[in-house]
Amino acid sequence: MFAVIDNFVKTGYKAGTERTMKIMKFGGSSVGDAARIRGACEIVNEARATEKIATVFSAMKGITNSLIATAREAEQGDQGYLERLAEIDRRHKETARLLLDSPGEAGATLQSLDDLTGELRGILHGIELVRECTLRSMDLVMSFGERLSNIIIAAYLSANGTPAEFVDARECIITDHHHGSAVVNFEVSGTKIRKRLKAVKGIPVITGFIASTPEGVTTTLGRNGSDFTASIIGAALGAKSIEIWTDVDGVLSADPRYVSNAFVINQVSVEEAMELSYFGAEVIHPYTMIPAVENNIPIWIKNTMNPQAPGTLIARNVERHRHPITGIASIENCSLINVEGGGMLGVPGIASRVFQALARAEINIIMISQASSEHSICLVCRSAEAGPAAEALEAELAWELDKKKINRVEILNDLEIIAVIGENMRGTPGMSGKLFSSLGQAQVNVLAIAQGSSERNISFVVRGSDRQKALTVVHNAFLEQEKEA
Ligand code: ADP
Ligand code: ASP
Ligand code: MG
Repeated sequence: MFAVIDNFVKTGYKAGTERTMKIMKFGGSSVGDAARIRGACEIVNEARATEKIATVFSAMKGITNSLIATAREAEQGDQGYLERLAEIDRRHKETARLLLDSPGEAGATLQSLDDLTGELRGILHGIELVRECTLRSMDLVMSFGERLSNIIIAAYLSANGTPAEFVDARECIITDHHHGSAVVNFEVSGTKIRKRLKAVKGIPVITGFIASTPEGVTTTLGRNGSDFTASIIGAALGAKSIEIWTDVDGVLSADPRYVSNAFVINQVSVEEAMELSYFGAEVIHPYTMIPAVENNIPIWIKNTMNPQAPGTLIARNVERHRHPITGIASIENCSLINVEGGGMLGVPGIASRVFQALARAEINIIMISQASSEHSICLVCRSAEAGPAAEALEAELAWELDKKKINRVEILNDLEIIAVIGENMRGTPGMSGKLFSSLGQAQVNVLAIAQGSSERNISFVVRGSDRQKALTVVHNAFLEQEKEA
């Protein structure tokens, strides 16, 4: 049984080794309104007094989701998209007015915002007319979030004594055509980034999340992808560090929304950070670690609302802590697909056909487990992909289903994957025993289990309704007494 984590393709990209620049990325929660933008810019200002920096900003909190909703409404012919668009427009203009005092400063920025909203209205009208929003159109619609926020922030910094220049990342981050989550061409992007940023006077204010194909078609790096942008820029410049500024004090031992006594982990290895983020700790996007680790750039997670807190260091070599595990993460809205039947017993190639069929249908399998009896193969994917996954499997296995060699392709919805992660689990006996007995005592039913061969991760599936209980029980079992010790 094993969890799939090899989606992480190495970039093989080695960049500059200048080691003077610091990349500072601020997420949506750090630029949610005028007050937050002021706070973030204060942090930028302080840093630039002593260091060379480049900044990356996300869209304002909630804006990417609103943009997606406008596109979906337009696609349905629902006129509500116009009101939602007006609200997006109002929020940005109000923020700009609050931040830019003089009419001159505000005027030019408000005009730029107006131009962008006008362009977006035209695109949404197009979607409404054709009643179709492709992934390509969705990328274009989503790109407005980062473009709007970064225009305001660059203007605010410049107006307050920090010369800054808006940089549209689509000019220098080049990807393939895989809309929704495009693959970056590091070689081409590296050269373009260095050239573009060399020409910037003052501090570059770079749009997170967005990129473009070599032909100039807008793409995105996947939800939460602004972290990745910071790392791409950092690798291209051979930065000395990358700081991810967010709304929590660092990487916590569990999602603070579900485990109230979760605590900050001071240092996390790159592998642990990847596993935690892959399994749902959205405090950092999993891809962020790749270009950073390849170029030996440390990543810091810091809190915009508590800048004095030391934060979490993510690096290749970190100090080992004394806890038995490092953290717990979870992914909601998962589905378990069970391919079951006596006819699979000892027949070579069924597993391979199952995985090939799912790969062709572009289904992302999060976890796999096969009982050694070979009687069933059990896979977990996001619920949104479960229908297409089952269809692909039923088509691939039509003959076996017809001949009753496979009884059925069964789907269970509303599930949660929980992953317990940590370097210290390696070679420590009794971890699984402790984990599953604590869940058993709390009456949490476990539907499937997988352990990575790295022994850095044990993941298991529970019903969504058991999420809170399972996370708390596991946190208490492994981390509570340890924290007190
Ligand atoms: P940003 O807007 O800065 O990109 P995100 O919302 O993407 O911020 O990520 C920060 C959030 O991640 C936190 O507010 C927290 O609720 C959530 N989170 C989930 N798991 C963890 C974890 N293990 N450590 C820290 N934060 C976590
Ligand atoms: N704005 C994008 C999103 O909400 C990217 C990001 O915030 O990192 O997914
Ligand atoms: Mg984020």
